[in-house]
Amino acid sequence: MADLTSILHRLDRDARDGDDWGEVARYIPELAEVNPAQFAISVALADGRLLEAGDCDVPFSVQSITKVFTLAIALGRSGDQLWTRVGREPSGRAFNSIVQLEQEDGRPRNPFINAGAIVTTDEVLGRRQPREALGEIISFVRAAAGSEDIFINDAVAASETAYGHRNFALAHFLASRDNLRNTPEKVLGTYFHHCALEMTTGQLAMAGRFLVDGPAMPQLVSPRRIRRLNALMLTCGHYDGSGDFAYRVGIPGKSGVGGGILAIVPGQASIAVWSPGLNRYGNSHKGTEALARLTTRMNWTIF
Ligand code: GLN
Repeated sequence: MADLTSILHRLDRDARDGDDWGEVARYIPELAEVNPAQFAISVALADGRLLEAGDCDVPFSVQSITKVFTLAIALGRSGDQLWTRVGREPSGRAFNSIVQLEQEDGRPRNPFINAGAIVTTDEVLGRRQPREALGEIISFVRAAAGSEDIFINDAVAASETAYGHRNFALAHFLASRDNLRNTPEKVLGTYFHHCALEMTTGQLAMAGRFLVDGPAMPQLVSPRRIRRLNALMLTCGHYDGSGDFAYRVGIPGKSGVGGGILAIVPGQASIAVWSPGLNRYGNSHKGTEALARLTTRMNWTIF
């Protein structure tokens, strides 16, 4: 597939052409330091090959992309019981919206906004200590990626803990509505640490293969659950930009405020793209652009 390799190199060149990189997230001080003028893309194909271009050796903060992994783990532990605590509807609001949580009386709209991911993190914690739950999350991600070389950046986690006032507000509201089993401090300690996982686009594309559903892919969850996780990624994976992402890119995806996006072509490929500058929805600006072009060129779509 020389063709795909040359498309990826072309996307990398195009990304570096023009200086509208978008704005990096500033509310986590460690992320505000990242140079926005970076771009990487990796595609893990169902036949086992990994093709990539750009800054694909640079590990970045995957942030909300871990919400897909923690949801898979929470569903594995609790099954459909989880849905009594969190919904499955697009939010139409920013990832860290507070007002909606009050409107919905403490049941977050979906597991991919912050409030929902705080609940799934609480579910993954159960009665365990954060260290044990984080161990399970890292093991899952490493098994999916087929790499032991994936770690949490403690400085990023500490930086977010020190400035995470909105997430503390969300967690305390959840607790006030009786939707947290552990203390807000314990749940957020775990949440901030799994958000601070770092991966290269190559590692992330490999880790996403468990959502592709192909014979040579890691079988970490059932095919039915794979379809459901993909459905949630499509409808909720980009917050209030989810409709726009589905319209322009046409496949399920999950973004993170570090500028990464994991996108899945069912049965065919797992794609990771990274460029730290964000668009107005808080999703990677150049990353979204590149995915839109890639899926158009490859005719990759779920529609
Ligand atoms: N850790 C970040 C937060 O809770 C994740 C947000 C994101 O990636 N959109 O705010």
